[in-house]
Amino acid sequence: MTRCPRCQAEVRANQDWCLECGAAARTRLARAPAWRLPVVAVAAIVAFAGIAAAFAFVRLANTDPDVRAAQSATAATQPAATTATAPPQPSPFTTTTTTTAPPSSP
Ligand SMILES: [Zn+2]
Repeated sequence: MTRCPRCQAEVRANQDWCLECGAAARTRLARAPAWRLPVVAVAAIVAFAGIAAAFAFVRLANTDPDVRAAQSATAATQPAATTATAPPQPSPFTTTTTTTAPPSSP
């Protein structure tokens, strides 16, 4: 017969848990992973926080003046390319429709 390490209640030989407080009376080996698991979880959270901080620093680096100048340069070239390709496409359609319409009416 052993006693509960927390409340000192009697724990029989076939009992693994204390009937008074519910603490693990005999399974002391199971206690080590019980406190190791939260430690691993905290370590993982700290690691994820470090990764998030790294991504935040990368975002701050993207807002540097040099990167902003490069982004504005690429943004300026994109509308110029669309305006250059836009005018030649509608002009052939408008010329063919206007030339075929007048001879048929008189
Ligand atoms: Zn107990």
